[in-house]
Amino acid sequence: MTRRPPERQLRDDLLRFGRLCYERHLLVALDGNLSVRLSDDLVLCTQAGCHKGFLEDRHLVVIDLSGKKVRGEGEPTSEMAMHLAAYRERPDIEAVVHAHPPMCIAFTVAGISMARCVLPEVVLTLGAVPTLDYTTTGTSDLATQVGRALRSHDGVMMDRHGAVCVGSSVLDAFCKLETMEHTAKVMKWARDLGQVQELPAAEAVHLRSMGLKRYGGPPEAVAKADAAGADLPAACLGCSGCGTPTETGLAPRATFSVARVSATPILPQSQRHLEDEVRKAVAEHLRS
Ligand SMILES: [Zn+2]
Repeated sequence: MTRRPPERQLRDDLLRFGRLCYERHLLVALDGNLSVRLSDDLVLCTQAGCHKGFLEDRHLVVIDLSGKKVRGEGEPTSEMAMHLAAYRERPDIEAVVHAHPPMCIAFTVAGISMARCVLPEVVLTLGAVPTLDYTTTGTSDLATQVGRALRSHDGVMMDRHGAVCVGSSVLDAFCKLETMEHTAKVMKWARDLGQVQELPAAEAVHLRSMGLKRYGGPPEAVAKADAAGADLPAACLGCSGCGTPTETGLAPRATFSVARVSATPILPQSQRHLEDEVRKAVAEHLRS
């Protein structure tokens, strides 16, 4: 049997990290939900329709593993099905955090995969973050899809919806969520600057293998720590790290536009001459 912190501490964790999700712009309004295992067969979770920025103890509900309320005010949200699927698929996890991080969601809306090996610390701890196909929110289909993906990942994106992260504590799951949004921001800024250069495949595999051994992860992924490509998808392994264009558009594009300077794509992409080209574009824009 797992030794868990007392209920009071777990309640405080949900309140603290729920509020932080709002303060760190990882969700808005009534979005998102958090939960933590209270015992082997009970889960403490945020109730339906509460604002995470103003979470209070009365907003927490205890449910069993079938989703039935055991105690507390209000009702559990339909999205709890997703959390319960995660707990069923991953006996090794203690907490689930679901939020709507805006930059991550923007990537899914733009149709750009986040399953790329770009930042070393993300490869170490999360590997390649998959995006699940669009499925209606709150449905059992979505819960099944999320549960299945979490067998081999600690963080997943749902198309046009948000992120689900799991961990050994609420803090651990929250950190993964924050890391995903931070990564999305870095990738967006890099794209704005002209390109996203991925890590060379050999380094990505080296990091991932090291991360799975050092920090652990989903048992299915840890089992692949010594495999040829660790648990990384073919897309990561196919990248030379030199910026070869890919169909996802994550590698350098042939052209790019400078926001607010010109609405039309300009200039052949070139890092060295970037400043000159931007200066020229600005001058042309001012002349027109
Ligand atoms: Zn949601």
